[in-house]
Amino acid sequence: MKTVPSSAVERDLATEVNSRRTFAIISHPDAGKTTLTEKLLYYGGAIQEAGAVRARRGAKAATSDWMEMEKQRGAFCSSRRSPYDRYDGFTLNLLDTPGHADFSEDTYRTVSAADNAVMLVDAAKGLEPQTRKLFEVCRLNGLPIFTFCNKLDRPSLEPLELLDQIEREFDLPTYAVNWPIGSGDAFKGVYHRPTREVHLFDAAVTKESRAKKGEDKSTKGLSVLPVGDATLTERIGEELHAQLMEDIELLDELGSDLDLDAVHAGSLTPVFFGSGMNNFGVQLFLDTFLGYSVRPRGRETSDGVIGPTDDAFTGFVFKLQANMDPRHRDKVAFVRVVSGKFERGMKVTNARTKKAVALSRPSQLFGQDKTVLECGYAGDVIGLNNPGSFAIGDTLYTGKRRVLPPIPTFSPELFAYLRNADTGKYKQFQKGVAELLGEGAVQVMYSRDSLKQDPILAAVGQLQFEVVQARMAQEYGVETTLDMLPFNVARWVEGGWDAVDAAGRIFNAQCVKDVWGAPVLLFKNAWNVDQLVADTPEIGTLSPFSKP
Ligand code: GDP
Repeated sequence: MKTVPSSAVERDLATEVNSRRTFAIISHPDAGKTTLTEKLLYYGGAIQEAGAVRARRGAKAATSDWMEMEKQRGAFCSSRRSPYDRYDGFTLNLLDTPGHADFSEDTYRTVSAADNAVMLVDAAKGLEPQTRKLFEVCRLNGLPIFTFCNKLDRPSLEPLELLDQIEREFDLPTYAVNWPIGSGDAFKGVYHRPTREVHLFDAAVTKESRAKKGEDKSTKGLSVLPVGDATLTERIGEELHAQLMEDIELLDELGSDLDLDAVHAGSLTPVFFGSGMNNFGVQLFLDTFLGYSVRPRGRETSDGVIGPTDDAFTGFVFKLQANMDPRHRDKVAFVRVVSGKFERGMKVTNARTKKAVALSRPSQLFGQDKTVLECGYAGDVIGLNNPGSFAIGDTLYTGKRRVLPPIPTFSPELFAYLRNADTGKYKQFQKGVAELLGEGAVQVMYSRDSLKQDPILAAVGQLQFEVVQARMAQEYGVETTLDMLPFNVARWVEGGWDAVDAAGRIFNAQCVKDVWGAPVLLFKNAWNVDQLVADTPEIGTLSPFSKP
């Protein structure tokens, strides 16, 4: 029996959703994310966006002006300039997560709006601190993770060493989709397991095509050979050929087919090798990624799971950004569409405020350029003008009331008392702190007994403090000072205050409460955490994240 979609809308939604891939690239600074992003967007058919990303790079080191940084941060790139502009039928939504000095909780929250993550690793350096942090957030969100080992044109770690690091440190099994042939000056290309072909790298040719950038969309100059090709030995040299044959034998022994269910569950990472700068392995990665990655996912709500093709619209605010245009002091709320069809001007309800809101000035961002968005589907990100109607984590919906779960609060590493330098401005001070907290600019904690004491700001990046102080001064007219606290680790006590009281006097940690009143312990280092858990079992389980 033939199944006929129950309505044209449903068919339309399914087609749109199936063709969307929404992903974030996570990496440590300098691993090559900006470069890779440019290449990916280039294939996605959006050369303009690539330019915008490039412009950002120049600005990245040039300023410590927080407003500039706010502007640079978190551009969202879609591969789509028009509904017809697609790559191989796919619309790519790339959520930018800056991995730089301006690292903040925004970065984490952005990951929660993605469906897939690309973990970019510098093949010479292996896993680095920021990769680790962001990986944890991907895991918390249950995202499928695709690994791209970059800069193979430079002397690199052995591929087995890279896989081993991921397996050991992240407890994440790997599946090498392709395998590098040599590295550094001797880098000859990759063996692609699904097709048993060798993609040859020719530095000279790619350099030339890089010079002609814009014209070369293909892998021009690259040769693709079946692994049994008679000319292969001559092309890559006897030694590398022998090594490759050995490696393939090993891979064949190890490897059954890729278990896609495990990939989608986030419990197996497909691994790729290449060089973003030389545009080598990027298209191969992209094509394979599109086949393996997941379409926009359904989400848990207060009323059961909602699927991406459900007729009812749902979405959630995952990021607020102020002063993108300093002339207007504008504020933008970024909404990730979870289900249904978004249309310009549509009326939705904000589940938190219970108010109806018309989404009248929706835009999509291309680097610094905004374009008005007429419609959107699950997986898309919409920028909404936010005169104060939206807060981080807000659910917007049509139809039956449904609330998406709050975005978890992420483990801060920097703590400071925020002091009001002008006691005459108590009210403004309180208002500013409350509003910046609502915007998710920073986390706020208090001592156990009193809300009257100065708030403790808790952040994952120094920039968050700078933003708070600058905005307190500019927007609320309050000068503030910071008193840094000597802690670097926060742990939420899962057993609540009962567990804290049962534990008795706690050494080497300060006990504070978060905005929900839950107990949080602040430690100098991870060693002190382990020590407390070992010495004081009454404290129970400690978690690096709040569980809202
Ligand atoms: P980001 O900080 O992760 O955004 O990294 P960038 O894309 O800005 O790159 C950092 C540096 O690494 C720059 O100097 C790039 O030119 C360089 N780079 C990026 N990709 C490659 C690559 O594939 N090979 C080599 N040799 N250098 C690269």
